[in-house]
Amino acid sequence: MADELRHRKLAQTSEDPDASLLLSEDETISHDGPLVDSYGRHIKNLRISVTDKCNFRCVYCMPAEGLPWLPRADILTFEEITRIARVAVGLGIEQIRLTGGEPLVRRDIADLVAMLSAIPGLRSLSLTTNGVLLGRLARPLAEAGLTRINVSLDSLMREKFTQLTRRDALDQVLAGLEELEKYPTIHPIKINAVAMRGYTESEVLDFVALARRKAYSVRWIEFMPLDADQIWRKEDILTGGEIKDIIEAGYGPLVPVKTDDPSETARRYTFDDGVGEVGFINPVSEPFCRWCDRIRITAEGQLRTCLFAHTETDLRAVVRAGDDDEALAHAIRRAVWHKELKHHIGDKRFRRTTRSMSMIGG
Ligand code: SF4
Repeated sequence: MADELRHRKLAQTSEDPDASLLLSEDETISHDGPLVDSYGRHIKNLRISVTDKCNFRCVYCMPAEGLPWLPRADILTFEEITRIARVAVGLGIEQIRLTGGEPLVRRDIADLVAMLSAIPGLRSLSLTTNGVLLGRLARPLAEAGLTRINVSLDSLMREKFTQLTRRDALDQVLAGLEELEKYPTIHPIKINAVAMRGYTESEVLDFVALARRKAYSVRWIEFMPLDADQIWRKEDILTGGEIKDIIEAGYGPLVPVKTDDPSETARRYTFDDGVGEVGFINPVSEPFCRWCDRIRITAEGQLRTCLFAHTETDLRAVVRAGDDDEALAHAIRRAVWHKELKHHIGDKRFRRTTRSMSMIGG
């Protein structure tokens, strides 16, 4: 049913996004089947921002002076996060990823990991971090039940790293990765590098060497218009295709890694000799919205059904009003039903979202 719906719906909407909806809203919201949107996409992936604060000031994300932080009372407590997550898993969410700001600056974060990893039915619990606190936190995170991790690392050169993050902390991040390797229950270790023209090209082969030397999966993410300073320009994007060309010029043709999950955002490759893995996340040059299975919750409990959403659903209000789980589930289903078809980067309908990446979480 969902697949037949999806094909008919997407075939209809990709030609004319404003085409009328196939199923009535109530038909979708009231039934207790999987969490689907009006395009038939099954939503299985929830990203939860646990703080808007960060200890870095990456140029493609945050101003040097930082941003006005959210008052503590506005931020979801661990109990509120866990309740929302438990209800969401009950609706069909299988993967949860913790984000920020920088999630590891949230005090006692390992306690939250333990609370979430105890939710029955949750298949994977991951976290995206800048890695600078991993030296101290890798062990408690592993013991608390974290299963996967993404470490943001855009340069292996101290000077450029410091220029990009406005923090002289490359050594701590690399030491944090080394510490992480001691805990094989956290696997895979993914490295996410934001690809920017004029910054990334000269280090591509160094990152490849890292991926082949260590069991890290290195991926490049195209630069997206989510920076608080609004300096993003299309010409600053270095596409995944261009990076792949640089690698193939040095290593010969890359070998695609087969994946059975169409909603996976990375195009993954290995090398002729099978050593190492690299990937390309190309939301701008090769959008993957058609298979998007993701929704996000901000640190203050706003549900966003797309990274570039212009509307949000206030789940914190539902939780703090004392409403029951059914009301929470209904609010999530209704929001998902209205999930955006796609971003419009590069076309005339594109409007920047009012939140920067640090206020949404990756
Ligand atoms: S832009 Fe929105 S719809 Fe597209 S992949 Fe990202 S979150 Fe999904």
